[in-house]
Amino acid sequence: MRASILCLPGDGIGPEVTQAALQVLGAVGAHFGHDFLFTEALIGGAALRRGEPALPPATLALARSADAILLGAVGDPAFDTSDSSRRPEAALLGLRRALGLFANLRPARVWPGLEDDGPLKADILRGTDLLVVRELTGGLYYGEPRGIESDGTAAVNTLRYSRHEIERIARVAFEWARRRRQRVTSVDKANVLEVSRLWRGTVTEVAADYPDVALEHMYVDACAMKLALAPASFDVILTENLFGDILSDEAGAVVGSLGLLPSASLGEGPGLFEPVHGSAPDIAGRSLANPVGAIASAAMLLDHLGLGAEARAVDAAIGATLQQGVRTADIRGNTKAATTREVAAAIVDRLRSVSPEGG
Ligand code: NAD
Repeated sequence: MRASILCLPGDGIGPEVTQAALQVLGAVGAHFGHDFLFTEALIGGAALRRGEPALPPATLALARSADAILLGAVGDPAFDTSDSSRRPEAALLGLRRALGLFANLRPARVWPGLEDDGPLKADILRGTDLLVVRELTGGLYYGEPRGIESDGTAAVNTLRYSRHEIERIARVAFEWARRRRQRVTSVDKANVLEVSRLWRGTVTEVAADYPDVALEHMYVDACAMKLALAPASFDVILTENLFGDILSDEAGAVVGSLGLLPSASLGEGPGLFEPVHGSAPDIAGRSLANPVGAIASAAMLLDHLGLGAEARAVDAAIGATLQQGVRTADIRGNTKAATTREVAAAIVDRLRSVSPEGG
C-alpha cells in the first residue's frame, strides 16, 4: 500500500511522542512492505512562535490532501494569556471543524501486566476494555454566542446540538459496538439539560436500527463514579463533546496513565490520529513522556487505512514491551523507568520479530 501521512508534532512532548510513533510506522512500512510518504508541518505554539497562525493555511492544505494525519499535542504556557484565536489549542478546534472530524474514538484498556500498577485495585481494573465515542464538532466548544462581556462581569458559552449531529455520532457508536461486545452506554445530563433530553430521545430512536446492540442511558455524574468503581462494566460509552473530554481523561487515569491513551478523529475526509494527552510542559524535552498513546494512535491509523494485521502487530508489540517491564516513569511499577526513546526502540524491536504474513 502507498499512503501519505502528515505529521504535526506540535508542542511540549508532542515532538518526542510523534517521533516515537513515526519510528514505529517506518518499521511497519519496511517490515510489511508498504510505502508510507511522511510530511511534516507546523501547528499550535510551534506555528505561533514562527509568526504564523496556530493552524497555518499551508498546514491545513497539507492536511486536506493527506491520507491520514498523525498529531502530537498542542499547548504552550507562553500563550496561556493570549485571546482564544491566538492560543495553540485553537488549531485543534480549527482542524477538527475544517476536516469535519465529528467522531472521536478513545479506547481505554488495561494492558496485561499493568493491573497492579494503576491507582485502582487489580480486581476492579481487570478486564477493562472500553471505547469512548465522543462527539467532536458540536456542543459547548463550538456553540455561539460565546465570549466574555466587555466589562468583564460575565461570560457565556452555548450548548447546542442538532438531531442530525446526535444521530450521526450515535450511529458511529452502534457500529463500533457491533465490532466489540454489543453494548452502548449513552451518557447525558437529561435530568437537567434540554439538550440532553434531545440527545437521549434521538439515541433511543437510532437504537431501533441496532436490535443486536444493548443500549443503556446514564447520567454523566453516575458514569464518572462508575468508571472509577467498575470500569470493566463498560463497552462503548457514547457522549457529547465536553462530557467525552472529561470522561476519557478519567478512563486514562483508571487504566494507569493518560500517556497510554490513543485516539482517532474521523469524518468524511482524512482521519486525525493523536494521543489523548496534552503537551505536558512539566516533562517536555527530557525523554520522560510515555510514547504508548502516540504509538497506539499510529496503530489506529493503520487500522483505518485497512491495515488491520499491521495494527494488531503494533498493539501486540506494545503489550509485550510493557509486560517485559520496559516502561516510562508514569507506569513504572517496580521496574526502573525507561526513556521515551528506549520504549519506542523496544516496540520497534518486537515488531521486527513478528512474521509479516501472520501479522
Ligand atoms: P496534559 O495531558 O498535557 O498533562 C497532564 C498530566 O499528565 C501532566 O502531569 C503530564 O506530565 C502527564 N502526562 C501527559 N501526557 C503524558 C505522557 N505521554 N507521559 C507521561 N505523563 C504524561 O494536560 P495539561 O497539563 O492539562 O495541559 C498541558 C497543555 O496541553 C495545555 O496547554 C493544554 O491546553 C494542552 N492540551 C492539549 C491537548 C491536545 O493537544 N490534544 C489535550 C489536552 C491538553
